[in-house]
Amino acid sequence: MYRHGVGGYPTERPVLMHTWNTFTVHLRQRFGQRVQKIPLDAGASCPNRDGTLSRAGCTFCNAIGSGSGLGLAGMNLPAQWEHWREHFRKSNRASLFLAYLQSFSNTYGPASRLAAMLEIFRTLPDLAGVSVGTRPDCLDPEKMAILGTAPWKEKWLELGVQTLNDATLRRINRGHDAAASAKAIELAEKTNVQVCAHLMLGLPGETPDDVHATVRRLNALPVHGVKLHNVYVCRNTALERAYRAGEYVPLTEDAYVELAVDALTELRPDIIIHRVVADPAPGELVAPDWATRKGDLVRFIQHAYHRRCGGA
Ligand code: SF4
Repeated sequence: MYRHGVGGYPTERPVLMHTWNTFTVHLRQRFGQRVQKIPLDAGASCPNRDGTLSRAGCTFCNAIGSGSGLGLAGMNLPAQWEHWREHFRKSNRASLFLAYLQSFSNTYGPASRLAAMLEIFRTLPDLAGVSVGTRPDCLDPEKMAILGTAPWKEKWLELGVQTLNDATLRRINRGHDAAASAKAIELAEKTNVQVCAHLMLGLPGETPDDVHATVRRLNALPVHGVKLHNVYVCRNTALERAYRAGEYVPLTEDAYVELAVDALTELRPDIIIHRVVADPAPGELVAPDWATRKGDLVRFIQHAYHRRCGGA
């Protein structure tokens, strides 16, 4: 176990050490100051929710689509922006921000919808760049051209790849295959939009070898960033039903740490790591309980990574 000093790992405060290529440092190098990401909910939908592909969604998916909830509360994009900008100006003294369209699939629907959202973004104060979350089958050349010609210095596509194993993609009712992810990444490569591939570790039925194979395939694709997520069980999902029936067992904390470090050490060194743990929303988590201790988990991964890379 990595917890509370066992194995020699202190947990009280982060230890400065050689680490992976972080998004925070990348942004600081690009802008000369801290840049804070602001999550936005643009009221997007998802073909895996609205009946186009299915109504069930991915088996792990929280029906509110990983959002902040502010969109559901009726706040438009500028109002959400002001809410978070004020919050982070006070809490982090941040003065430059990245707009992150997080909830559901933000390039789903007509290209004009995406263009209209980006027009709204032009009015947001202190905006350094944009990050658009979506799924691989909701992209086409027209949408990529709209994103590619947007005026900001920093433009990211946050792509829900999750795994490049087709059997797992079917098992989690993802509604697209690995080839769709590869095609979307190659489409983005033709623009100046960078791709951050989201990977989930601990998906049902996946072995460490499956994860390693996904990482190897991803290394061969033109991705610029990766987000690692530990799979956790959300309330009212198919995964919760599988978990309660004993058909899905989440990774242990130790197993996640080792798998995350495997991925971090196997990914191409130029790939920017946007995050290494997921962040369950309040009230949504069923299991595992360690998923709530994000700070500890990041420290455990740092220590294990340092040890794996030969640190003292
Ligand atoms: S693609 Fe995203 S929003 Fe759609 S069902 Fe899957 S996890 Fe949920």
